[in-house]
This record gives sequence, structure tokens and C-alpha cells, in this order.
Amino acid sequence: MSSYFKDKIEKFRNLETPFYYYDKALLNETLQTINSCLKNFPAYHLHYAVKANANKDVLREIQKAGFGVDCVSGGEIQQALDAGFDAGKIVYAGVGKADWEINLGLDAGIFCFNVESEPELQVINELAGKKGKTARVCFRINPNVGAHTHANITTGLAENKFGISMQDMEEAIREAEELPNIEFLGLHFHIGSQILEMTDFEALCNRINELQDRLEAQGIKPKVINVGGGLGVAYDDPDGKPIPDFDAYFNTYAKNLKLREGQEMHCELGRAVVGQMGSLITRVLYVKHAHVKSFVIVDAGMSDLIRPALYDAHHEIQLAEDSEGREECTYDVVGPICESSDVFGKDEKLPECRRGDLIALRSAGAYGEIMACQYNCRKLPKAYLL
Ligand SMILES: *Cc1c(COP(=O)(O)O)cnc(C)c1O
Repeated sequence: MSSYFKDKIEKFRNLETPFYYYDKALLNETLQTINSCLKNFPAYHLHYAVKANANKDVLREIQKAGFGVDCVSGGEIQQALDAGFDAGKIVYAGVGKADWEINLGLDAGIFCFNVESEPELQVINELAGKKGKTARVCFRINPNVGAHTHANITTGLAENKFGISMQDMEEAIREAEELPNIEFLGLHFHIGSQILEMTDFEALCNRINELQDRLEAQGIKPKVINVGGGLGVAYDDPDGKPIPDFDAYFNTYAKNLKLREGQEMHCELGRAVVGQMGSLITRVLYVKHAHVKSFVIVDAGMSDLIRPALYDAHHEIQLAEDSEGREECTYDVVGPICESSDVFGKDEKLPECRRGDLIALRSAGAYGEIMACQYNCRKLPKAYLL
């Protein structure tokens, strides 16, 4: 057994599987680490990206640590408000904001709309006008910067649907300055997710510096530079690297991003905050020895954790039982869903598994529970912050 579960397994024993286990101590340690990094950079502000994990108990811990949030829907704005987040610390991005979602943001008085197109700007102006309000906006600029990550989670290339292209930046800002119910705040970027190479963030900094020089030459000075999120976690080493390297992340920005006098840097980390604190706990239903393979069939499936099927992701699979005296075997670990992609791991080396054993899929705190669905008429997994 991974020593990580030694003192936890008895608590798990009586819970209905599958369920998400969130490690409260690790979450708080992660939040403290971020806070102590941020002490060195008073101009930096963190908005936790709610879409990574919107569990109420998790949001409460993040709110207590003093952070704001990054939302990508009206539902997320509501969830954040319900968890006690200050509307003045909410930023809201998304290529397809519906009128009711914009109205919710206006009524709540959120800090900033991260606007992704010119028609969206017009609609926000119109809706704000009807309420006699002014909407603060940043423009999400597509920086055409690639990231070394899975193709489905790069967002900052010219071919992606997100943001306004760099050529149109000045025109958008001029338009914003003329609209009566819009206040232009600054620029927003987000190049992708699960990024572990600091050179990708460095490339983003270089691009932002270029764009800032361009704006400065025209007398435009953004108050806010929002660099988005994307810092990755060590999926292959949850026990060795439970907390991402926030020092390296913030220092990369400190070294490469040229903030102007009085300018604020905002960032939107999601996965890095919550990824490692979560495990999906599942029970072995059957061990099936077929002709070419042996399968461990567990009671969690892709409906509970879709990342392996969707992004070819791999979560560490650990037997959460005392494995003394069990020989090592090779298994494909699969779920019960009627899809061939419902596979958590192929040729996994595990101690011999038995019906009823608990198995943990590690690093499942981000894009796990929140992406669960009811395919095959299954129940949604429960989650416990312990
Ligand atoms: C998803 C998203 C984030 C968070 O990404 P992570 O990789 O989880 O840090 C930040 N900003 C925006 C606009 C997003 O869509």
C-alpha cells in the first residue's frame, strides 16, 4: 500500500464507492504555499479557476485563503457567490456568454468580464446600459503562443476559438473607450493547461511585453495584465511532488513580465491548486483472467473520471490495501461502462488484486468530479473533504 493511505483506509472502508477523497490538509498546505509565494509579489492576484473543481467544501477552503475566482459560466459565478467569494474578486471569461450570464455578472458587480469578441463587447455594453451600470472589461487576446501539452488543452494558438486576435487589439480597445457603459481595464491571456515547461510561460511574457510596447506607443496603459492559468501537476509522482512548483511559476513571471508602474498582474490557476489533493477511490468488482490479458474491473468508470478517455491522461493507480505477501501482477484496470475507452490503465503493475479491494486513482482533484456525468444511468460520485 502507498503509505499515503495508511491512516486513511479505515475511514474509507464504510463509504459507498466510487467516491472522491479530497485531502484537506494537503489542500491547505498548497494554499499556504501559494500565499507565501505571493507575499513577495504584492502586485500579483490569484483567481482560482472554478472549473477545475467546484465542490462547495473545496471552494470554502480556497475562499478562506483569501483568493478570488475565475469563472467561465453563470453557474460558476453563482457557485462562487454561494461559497462566499467577494464579487469584486470574480473574473469571467468564455467565448459564449449568454445574456442571463452577463446580467448575473452585472448584478453581482464582478471585477471584470474577460471579453472574447467584438459582438460580445457590444452586448455587454447594451445590457449594462439597461441597468445604468458600467461593465469593467479586459480583452482576452489570442497570443498565438503554443504550449507543450495535449492538443485538446492548448488554447492560445491562432487556430483556437478563444480570444481576439492580436491584429484587432487596438481597434477593440478604441471601441471600448467610446462605449458609454464599458470601462477598459486591461488584457487577458490563457495559453493552455497542464503546462510544466516554464519556457512556455516565458514565451507568453515575451508576447505580452511586445503587445504592451505597442500599446504604450499609442498612449494606452492597461491597469490589469491577466496571464491566465495552466500550471501543471506531477501526475506521475503524486507522493513525491504533492505541491506544484509555485516558486518557479511566479518567479518566471517576475523575471520575464515587464509590469508598468501601478499595473496589476492577475493569474487564474486551477489544476495546480486542487489537482494533487484529490483521489478517486474505487472498489475492485472482479478480476478477470482472459486469454491475452488480466483485467481488474473496478466500480468507477469514465463517467466518474473522464480524463483518461478524453485526453489520454494517466492517473497513478494504487492499491489502497495492505499488500504484504501478494505477488506483483500485470493488469488492465477498467471500468464498467459500455465503451472501449473506459480504461484507467493498461499493463499496470499492481499487487495481486482481489474482489472488494480499494484502489485509488491519484491526482484526481482537478477536472474529475466536476466532469462526471450520468452516462449509463449511473449515480454521480460523492466527494468528501477529510
Ligand atoms: C481553464 C481555465 C483556467 C485554468 O486552467 P488550469 O490549467 O486549470 O490552471 C484559467 N483561465 C481560463 C480562462 C480557463 O479557461
